[in-house]
Amino acid sequence: MYHSQQQVDVKKQLRFRAWLFFLLLPVMVVVSFAFIFPNTFFSLSTSFYFNNIQNTFSEAVLERDDPNLTLEKDAIDQQQIQLTYSHKVKSGETLADIFKLYGLNNDDLLSMIKVRPQAIPLLNGQVVEWKQDGSGRLLSMQIHRSVRLSSSYIKEKNQFVFKPLLTTSETKLSIVEGRVGRNFYQSARAIGLTRDQIQTIATALYWQVDVTSPVTIGDKFAIELEQNIIGDETVGLGKVMAIRYQHRGNDIQVMRFNDGHFYYANGMSVEKSLDRLPLQRSYPVSSEFNPHRLNPVTHQYAPHYGTDLATPIGTAVYATGDGVVKKVGDHPLAGKYIVISHGRVYSTHFFHLSQSLVKVGDKIKRGQKIALTGNTGRSTGPHLHYELRQNGQPIDAMLAPLPTQKMIPASQRHEFIRQIKVRMSALYI
Ligand SMILES: [Zn+2]
Repeated sequence: MYHSQQQVDVKKQLRFRAWLFFLLLPVMVVVSFAFIFPNTFFSLSTSFYFNNIQNTFSEAVLERDDPNLTLEKDAIDQQQIQLTYSHKVKSGETLADIFKLYGLNNDDLLSMIKVRPQAIPLLNGQVVEWKQDGSGRLLSMQIHRSVRLSSSYIKEKNQFVFKPLLTTSETKLSIVEGRVGRNFYQSARAIGLTRDQIQTIATALYWQVDVTSPVTIGDKFAIELEQNIIGDETVGLGKVMAIRYQHRGNDIQVMRFNDGHFYYANGMSVEKSLDRLPLQRSYPVSSEFNPHRLNPVTHQYAPHYGTDLATPIGTAVYATGDGVVKKVGDHPLAGKYIVISHGRVYSTHFFHLSQSLVKVGDKIKRGQKIALTGNTGRSTGPHLHYELRQNGQPIDAMLAPLPTQKMIPASQRHEFIRQIKVRMSALYI
């Protein structure tokens, strides 16, 4: 009798454990999913948050070009009426995805589709190139389908005009040389370089020499340009292929590789890496990047140029790349904020902080602790507003491709080093 009672107890206990296991199973699945796929998990939770207006609009709408929260334009940027951007298409990516990543207006996409729907589908590896004006408006877009064929959409009087572009595979290299007089921009213009070419050169050289700085007076430079030829005529503005620049005894040499990026003579890229997140781990996204957001209740335009990360007050914030602190301040809406410039192209913006650990002019390294998060300014809960800009244009910091400092693959490095020696000897100055 005693024996069988014990058996019943054991059975009961086993049944209880089985129930407990089945009850806890879904919890365990969710937790392990969150651990294995933190990004997917948090973007899923984002869509949940999205239905919650309180969370989606956790801060006041900030002006896109508020001079306190954005960078001043340097001497070259001031001359730019339009800026060129490009994106290499990844497998499965659509034009709508690219519009979303770079904050382009969907109305433009719709009018492009209206004009020529056949040209909209993209293939893996194709390059989309476009121009925007200073306030972010799309001016033209080209989809490079192959070496020779491009689809071109150009905006004329608020309407897009479609043109297929055929380029010959025949190209010609030419060299221009100059010496910096009053400033690099004027001297480069004087020898016939375009605004776009000057922007490209300034960006490629930036981490060695800032050509907008007055210390460049007297510097010498030689540029190799590649132009397409149709018949006897050269067409297009010419692509900058190689640069040799002498600054105070420093001989800087960079050349474009077949991936479109510039590299130094040792095979290292001129770009520096940017990290995805300014935090040590993922936090839920409480409001996504969406510069064309409409408030579903008021139906008012409520753009959001950054990503809101639901961080508890006092969470450490880390610089996502090497750079210089350009702004630290207190703003009635953005609260305590920091703006960092990472070279000529990218800048990062951090709002609603409780404390800044850096000051204006500080040179900082990627991964350096720069601030603590908070709930300052007009914000309805503790969070970090993190914003990434490319040439002053806000882009999706969570999804846009980020620059990486990389070496040319070992298999191709030897040939690149040999090539750059040959080409630089022609750029002897
Ligand atoms: Zn925000």
